[in-house]
This record gives sequence, C-alpha cells and structure tokens, in this order.
Amino acid sequence: MTPEEILAGDRAHVWHPYAALPPASPPYVVEGAEGVRLRLADGRELVDGMSSWWAAIHGYRHPVLDAAVTDQLGRMSHVMFGGLTHAPAVRLAQTLVELAPDGLEHVFLCDSGSVSVEVAVKMCLQYQRATGRPERRRLGTWRGGYHGDTFHPMSVCDPEGGMHHLWGDVLPRQVFAPAPPGGFDTPPDPTYEAALVDAVERHAHELAAVIVEPVVQGAGGMRFHHPHYLRVLREVTREHGVLLVFDEIATGFGRTGTMFAAEHAGVAPDVMCVGKALTGGYLTLAAALCTSEIARGISAAGVLAHGPTFMGNPLACAVANASIGLLRAGDWAGQVARLQAGLRAGLEPLRGAPGVVDVRVLGGIGVVQLDHEVDLPAATVAAAERGVWLRPFRDLVYTMPPYVTDDADLARIAAGVAAAVAAG
Ligand code: PLP
Repeated sequence: MTPEEILAGDRAHVWHPYAALPPASPPYVVEGAEGVRLRLADGRELVDGMSSWWAAIHGYRHPVLDAAVTDQLGRMSHVMFGGLTHAPAVRLAQTLVELAPDGLEHVFLCDSGSVSVEVAVKMCLQYQRATGRPERRRLGTWRGGYHGDTFHPMSVCDPEGGMHHLWGDVLPRQVFAPAPPGGFDTPPDPTYEAALVDAVERHAHELAAVIVEPVVQGAGGMRFHHPHYLRVLREVTREHGVLLVFDEIATGFGRTGTMFAAEHAGVAPDVMCVGKALTGGYLTLAAALCTSEIARGISAAGVLAHGPTFMGNPLACAVANASIGLLRAGDWAGQVARLQAGLRAGLEPLRGAPGVVDVRVLGGIGVVQLDHEVDLPAATVAAAERGVWLRPFRDLVYTMPPYVTDDADLARIAAGVAAAVAAG
C-alpha cells in the first residue's frame, strides 16, 4: 500500500486510542522500526522517546528478541492453555517468581495489562469470598491512578482524571483516598499518612483489596511519590485483612531504577500485575502474580474463574523469556541510571521556562508539566522536526526512552521535549 492508501484506509476504517473516527489529526505512517528509531513512510527517522508506551526497553529489531520469536515460530505459534502446557510459559512463570518480590509464587499469564488487573481483582474477590468474607467486594485506591481501560480497572482510575469520566454512573463504586503528595524524594507527610490509614481502616470491612501503582502514577498524571506510603499501605492492609495489589505494568522491569518499583519500599504485595516491558514490547502479554495463601484459598473453594483464548501464548512467552534474559545478562541498572542522569541534564533547564510548572525525572522517566493543556498536534510536529517521537497528553510532555538509547540520542530526545514544550 502507498502511504496515501494507508492514510485513506485508516481514516475510513480504523480506530486509534482515545480518538474519534476519523481522529482529530492524522497518524504518522510508520514503515519500520530498528534500534531506537522509527522509520516513517515519508523517509524521516524519529528517535523513539516513548518506548511504544513503556514497552520497547531494548529498542526494535533486537537480534536476540527477533531470534526468540523466529525460533518459537518454528515449534508452535499458539496452542490453547486449557489442558496443555509448554516450556516457554513454565520457564516464564518460574523466572517471574524468582524476580518478583518475596511471596509471589503463582502466575496467571494473560493478554494485556488491563486484563491482568481484572484477573488480580478476581483473585482478591474470590479469595475474600472463599475465606468467608463475601461482603468484602469493593476496591480501595488513591486518586491520580490509572489501571487500564476495561471496567474494573477503570473503576480504580482517577474519577476526575479525564480518561474515564464518561463512565461515572456505570462503574462499580470504589473507595478513594487522596492522591499521595508528589515527589519521590519529598519527605513523607504524616498528615497524609494518617488520612491514608484512616481511609483504609474506615472501609476495611467492605474492602477486598487496595490497588495502587507503586512510586509512579503513570497515565493518571505522571506523578511520583515517596515509597514510604507503600510501607504504610502494606502495614494497614495486612492488619485489617485487606489484600494489597501493586500494578507494576508501567514500572516493572527496571524503569524506575529497581527491577520492580516495590523494591524502593522494600515491601511485597499480595498480588502484582506486570505487562508492557514484559516482552520487551514485542508481543502482547501480561501477568498477575499472587501468593500461595491466595492460590490455596481460591483453590480450596473452586477454580480461579478466568481463562482467555490466548492465555500463555508461546510466542509471547518465548520473547518475554528472551527479554528478561537480556536484562539479566546486561547492565540494565547502569543503563537506567544513565538515562536518569541524561534526562536530568536535558530537562532541568526547562524549569522556569514559560508555561512550565514542574520538571521531574525518575529512572528512565522524564516529565515536564505545563500550566495548560498541550496542543498535541503542534507539540508532536515540533518534536518530530527535531527528529524525535513524543506523544504528550493533558498538560504533560514526557518521555521514557528505550534503555539502549545512547547519550547523543538522549540529548536529541531532550531537545525534542524542549521543542514540544515551546510549541505546545
Ligand atoms: N496499568 C498501568 C499502570 C498502565 O500504565 C496501563 C497502561 O498504560 C495499564 C494498567 C493497562 O495496560 P494495557 O494498556 O496493556 O491494557
């Protein structure tokens, strides 16, 4: 197809994320992706500042990941997971259990982050029911969160955050505490801590679980918080028999400087969701991990009531194994520390620029917050003119580059962010 045919067909038939049909501005036609670069149909090459939404941590067309898919393709691309099992899934489950915070022993492999959150919620509801507390059916969370686009995940997203405001009267009513005060390094606020504990204690009798994104609230506003609040949540939930779920779909596999963000707090949840970078961004795969206590409770009463068609897809599991293998064999922590230093150097000078409210960097995440809604087409074009792919949203211009981005490309991304801020 020519680029013109692609755009015409796209305009006529294809939905894009959070878009009308046709979308407000046409998408860029991409023909290939290699290393950290996207190759557009018009011949331009853009350095990818987004890692395809947190996922492509090793960049594109990585030879080891390509080989993992090809090799698995030669054996089997997919088989149903009911009544069958295979090495790629079992190896992946074993590896995730090894890497995950202590106590997470059992792995449900599913197709997307949102579905892994649905599975996590089912695990918690079924566990509470199985252990004689069926009245514990609500979820607790803090404001400012984002957990996905299906119905339970939407119900614990920030109700005023904009993503899901259409659904207020349809979603299950959950319990919200205020958002944690901002700043990874900002000393914990005892008043907030007391309010958080109070919210959990007041609603404990009806809460199946508390679910939060540890350390980084992503699509709800790209805010960072002090890990201490996770310790507070761990203590109060344990004390009151409320389960604790960490959604590490964005933060998992090194993005914040530790393999999982929970490690900043030194606590383990009862259930953990991972996705996105799990396959290095190659194929759609996510997982919900739970403790033996939860698995035993559910299984004593029956079955975990979930079983998607593409559960444990062998191609996705094989490339996830290869991606984790690359992390383990390489110096991902050094790469992320280098990204953090480069993003700080590149973005801090924007503090004080017209319209800039805040600049924040943690691990491989850089965020510039504006005092107004970003003009998305203008900001995207300005970044692309500097050879950089960015996708700002709301009042945020942000980047989370592939870990393999070198210093020159990192500087280019920072220049792209600056251009997007100036234009947006
Ligand atoms: N949870 C978090 C923290 C996310 O960032 C996302 C996606 O952005 C999701 C859940 C949903 O994942 P998916 O888009 O794969 O359904």
